[in-house]
Amino acid sequence: MSNPYLLLTPGPLSTTATVKEAMQKDWCTWDHEYKAIVEQIRQQLLEVGCTSKEHYTPLFMQGSGTFGVEATLGSVIPSDGKLLILQNGAYGKRIEDIAKVLHIPHLSLVFEANAQVDPLVVERKLAEDSSITHVAMVHCETTTGILNPLEAVMEVIKRNNRIAIIDAMSSFGGIPIAVEELQIDFIISSANKCIQGVPGFSFILCKRDELMKCKGRARSLSLDLYDQWETMEKDSGKWRFTSPTHVVHAFAQALKELAEEGGVEARHARYCTNQQIVVEGLTQAGFTAYLPRELQSPIITTFLYPTHIPFEFEHFYNFLKLAGLVIYPGKLTDAHVFRIGNIGDVHANDMERLSEQILRYVGEIKYEN
Ligand SMILES: *Cc1c(COP(=O)(O)O)cnc(C)c1O
Repeated sequence: MSNPYLLLTPGPLSTTATVKEAMQKDWCTWDHEYKAIVEQIRQQLLEVGCTSKEHYTPLFMQGSGTFGVEATLGSVIPSDGKLLILQNGAYGKRIEDIAKVLHIPHLSLVFEANAQVDPLVVERKLAEDSSITHVAMVHCETTTGILNPLEAVMEVIKRNNRIAIIDAMSSFGGIPIAVEELQIDFIISSANKCIQGVPGFSFILCKRDELMKCKGRARSLSLDLYDQWETMEKDSGKWRFTSPTHVVHAFAQALKELAEEGGVEARHARYCTNQQIVVEGLTQAGFTAYLPRELQSPIITTFLYPTHIPFEFEHFYNFLKLAGLVIYPGKLTDAHVFRIGNIGDVHANDMERLSEQILRYVGEIKYEN
């Protein structure tokens, strides 16, 4: 059974037929075969993050990516701690929303949506406020597709002895991240982004020493990082509460396919090619990308509504959907934009097909008017 359309969205995204097939069986959560698969994917995640088992340990959390972020914030920051949130988009803002709900003392540095987080500004803030214990940042802000300077920001955070929490939801597995070399303490992603699995859980790669300090700290029973890890570790591969067994199997298959593709570097190269084709195709059709090239990630691209043709997003969206291509609306309050995702089981020929359809759309609209 083939899909009615290809998803050019940042997750859930288009998965391979083999990833979908992996969900066709039912599994027992405490059976050793199932737990062995959980342990195997934990090992593979250590490798994807370039981390050693000695210093890092991965765990899973049921729910979408936000559950993983909320679990991490709520379990890691002690009641006398204080979180600095670096924001340049909706997902950075969501971290602030979580901190508010959980009554975590926090402050934010807010940058423009079209500007990267500035490590110098972060440095100044950390120097001036010694009560800050933790710093949170989104790596690839999916709101616009902007890539934040992870290496430079991590250097500042570590030189100033703070704990780093990185939301790498839309980049982990699709952009190489040397988690251990950068000394990231907690890095969060989810099953349905660049690993190319289906939605159902998030995962957190934790620095062991820091996770060990989190016992009894959580502000929630189900979203407790330490407790979740402890069960998974002691009863190797057992999830604390019902695990999404089908999603786990799809994820195991997706990790296998990531390795077969040539690992994160090869996937990154494919996404970069996808992005290049999209930008060239849309530029040719008279569209303008929202971000300058050098700030753009290969994950998702934001385009301004065009001014050379009468434009209505719904109409454009439906035209492309009929052609079997689903794009994403914008998420900016101060600019009229839409987005095109480059991640998932999508390839150069799909992006060329999209470009052709958009060119056709522009031609038809011009003709009609
Ligand atoms: C997808 C995403 C999330 C999580 O969103 P969910 O809807 O909860 O899966 C968080 N941060 C970023 C940067 C994302 O791209």
